[in-house]
Amino acid sequence: MPGSLKTEGIVIRSLRYGEADRILHLYTPDRGRIGAIAKGVRRSRSRFGGRLEPYFRVNLVLYEGRGDLLTVTGAETVAAHPRLREDAGALDGAARACEAVARVFDDGDPHAGVYHLLANQLALLDREPERAGRANALAFRVKLLLAAGFAPQLAACASCGDREHLVGFSGAAGGVVCTACEANAFPLDQKAHDFLLGALGRPLAEAPDAPPRALAQAERAILETLEHHAHVRLRPVGPAR
Ligand SMILES: [Zn+2]
Repeated sequence: MPGSLKTEGIVIRSLRYGEADRILHLYTPDRGRIGAIAKGVRRSRSRFGGRLEPYFRVNLVLYEGRGDLLTVTGAETVAAHPRLREDAGALDGAARACEAVARVFDDGDPHAGVYHLLANQLALLDREPERAGRANALAFRVKLLLAAGFAPQLAACASCGDREHLVGFSGAAGGVVCTACEANAFPLDQKAHDFLLGALGRPLAEAPDAPPRALAQAERAILETLEHHAHVRLRPVGPAR
């Protein structure tokens, strides 16, 4: 039914459209990923100003008609994240976080926890741009798994429940595995296991760091978990800055 909708949202992507419009991909707490058109937004006199650029957190008024795209009729800034925009590493971190959310969740698949996680990540990259890098990007992805309901089992063997001799990780099994169950697993060092536990258990701003080998293993664990449970393949986060 056509009507107006008020929601908070984060601009995860913004595409030029026609003469002066933009198509926005937004992530919202209650509706998940939605698409909207902002008409005339690229004109200098636009009432939206620069508020509908990627990584803005905004309060929106949207008109929902019969088409797939909603129409933006109002936008107020909640957080513009200006410092994030001046740092190449933080911008890359923000882009990767938004891309991961966009890839893992389809339209109409809301997770309020994912919204808050993304808002926290953008706020952190704005407050402390120097935190951007591989450990931060992986901690975000681990928390994304948790918020989406795919958190890997880390406390005991995902195949047999053994709490000792946890030496591998299996995306198919759903977490860490013991020496007896490691047939289809890859090796997961203690430091990688500790990184995953720390990233899951602590706030993003206090997420741990780890040596490159441990981060590479943690990244593989996250990628395999996403492939098995969400059927999504994400771009590697790459080496540390
Ligand atoms: Zn086992």
